[in-house]
Amino acid sequence: MTPLNADLHCHSTVSDGLLPPTEVVRRAVNNGVELLALTDHDELGGLAAARAEADAQDLRFLDGVEISVSWGDQTIHIVGLDVDPADATLSAGLASVRSGRDARAQRIGEELERIGIHGALEGAQAYAGNPALVSRAHFARFMVATGVARDTASVFEHYLTPGKPGYVEHVWATLDEAVGWIHAAGGVAVIAHPGRYRLPEAEMTRFYDRFRDLGGEGIEVVSGAHSPSQVRDYARIARRYGFAASRASDFHGVGESPVDLGRAAALPPDLEPIWLRFL
Ligand code: AMP
Ligand code: MN
Ligand code: MN
Ligand code: MN
Repeated sequence: MTPLNADLHCHSTVSDGLLPPTEVVRRAVNNGVELLALTDHDELGGLAAARAEADAQDLRFLDGVEISVSWGDQTIHIVGLDVDPADATLSAGLASVRSGRDARAQRIGEELERIGIHGALEGAQAYAGNPALVSRAHFARFMVATGVARDTASVFEHYLTPGKPGYVEHVWATLDEAVGWIHAAGGVAVIAHPGRYRLPEAEMTRFYDRFRDLGGEGIEVVSGAHSPSQVRDYARIARRYGFAASRASDFHGVGESPVDLGRAAALPPDLEPIWLRFL
């Protein structure tokens, strides 16, 4: 039996993706995706349009979100799948997460100004499809367009990551809040792209333990951000903790994402695919 082509994490212009929600859905259909979740950062605003298009195209669709979480001084992302977009607890929680973004963007702009990169706040805002959701990705696009760096990856490497001149510390939701909001909205919680986190092993273990104790259900074993050896590492974590496994491109747009919609590797066959609970 061929595995379902599920892609359970991607972005639209409602956060920092390059395509509007309807075009994300159409691209997924063209790429052979059979189950799609749109998971914009801290936002549910693209889901109604995406679902309407998915219905029109006969694509199975899950309402999703990717919540920004602070764990110590690190940022971790938790994906919520099959959430109720009308849930008041989730909406209020996400509104509180988004409200910090404005002041943060302002400060990023000031830090960049200090090192001679002018007009970055306005520049980033011009790239943001949603004024409530200015992300570092929008700063990166502005800085590539104005020749500060050759691609978004090098903007992050030189300017927008911890220790670099345009990095601003920010406090997002707690892990307990994020998982609680997702569960309140009837969804399941999934650790996004674990391979991206730079935590010492003991701290990562503490994080997995807490996530499991909170009733967290899944982990992205396959992510557009993962190498084959990372897929093996996180398959081991899924087995050890009894987490269901998710598969996701984390697609943001052509030219910016290493993996297109529906084109991530297959899950290791012994793992429990998280989508079985949505079929
Ligand atoms: P923010 O939520 O504003 O902190 O922005 C985080 C977003 O920036 C992520 O969701 C990615 O879209 C993008 N991003 C983070 N790190 C990198 C990187 N090293 N290269 C390219 N994009 C990145
Ligand atoms: Mn992003
Ligand atoms: Mn993420
Ligand atoms: Mn993402």
